[in-house]
Amino acid sequence: MPEGHTIHRLARDLSSAFAGRAPRVTSPQGRFADGAALLDGAVLESADAWGKHLFVDFAGERRLHVHLGLIGRFTVTSVPEGEPEPPARGQVRLRLADAGSVADLRGPIVCATRTPDEVAEVIARQGPDPLRAEADPDRAWAMVRRGRRSVAELLMDQKVLAGVGNVYRSEVLFRHRVGPMHPGQRIKRQTWEAIWEDLVRLMPLGVASGRILTVKEQVDRVEAQLARGVQPCPGPRRYYAYKRTGQECLRCGSTIRTAVVAGRNLFWCANCQRRT
Ligand SMILES: [Zn+2]
Repeated sequence: MPEGHTIHRLARDLSSAFAGRAPRVTSPQGRFADGAALLDGAVLESADAWGKHLFVDFAGERRLHVHLGLIGRFTVTSVPEGEPEPPARGQVRLRLADAGSVADLRGPIVCATRTPDEVAEVIARQGPDPLRAEADPDRAWAMVRRGRRSVAELLMDQKVLAGVGNVYRSEVLFRHRVGPMHPGQRIKRQTWEAIWEDLVRLMPLGVASGRILTVKEQVDRVEAQLARGVQPCPGPRRYYAYKRTGQECLRCGSTIRTAVVAGRNLFWCANCQRRT
């Protein structure tokens, strides 16, 4: 499932392709024909993300709400000047098209028009999002500190924390050597604050590079590249724990384990990760 950095990057790409313009909005597949007709021809004001939810604001208080779910994809492609709009391929639920850009949405679990009040209701059900400047980590802490569920489970709950998914949870718990099965109520406040601050540091690198970066050398390299204003170039995909079942821990050499927690495979090193 795409994690929050993917949705924020998508919001950024949609804004840069369409903001201030009035794209044609269609549903080539037909399942969103009524919604598309409501948005078609209206000026697209901006796109924004909250956790894994994408909201696109159109003039006249019309809002598009998208959640990609497990298999959804929303791709923005540029169309060279003078070339015709490419035909929609496959099951395209929604297409935004304008001279220069086409965006196709396939396979979302949510694609709906909303009023501003309905958008506010969706947002009110989300925990703080580490990618949003105004996010309040204490709201998440209030749920973690009285949580009977494991910290690995709490990190996946979008009401606790918005945007974190399976990769970031495994990796951030490894980075802070936190035992993933400890219940939230055993987690120390300073541990939680360190996890939050780390997500605030790491997730923007995901937005900038389009990749989840957690391994120290890659994080340091991409931060330096961004500071110099050059295109981030992280190198091969690497993780500390995620999908490394049976391999040696990069820190201690123990075997990385896996177990299903909150419906998804968690990966961790039982030797390194003991902290509360
Ligand atoms: Zn280890």
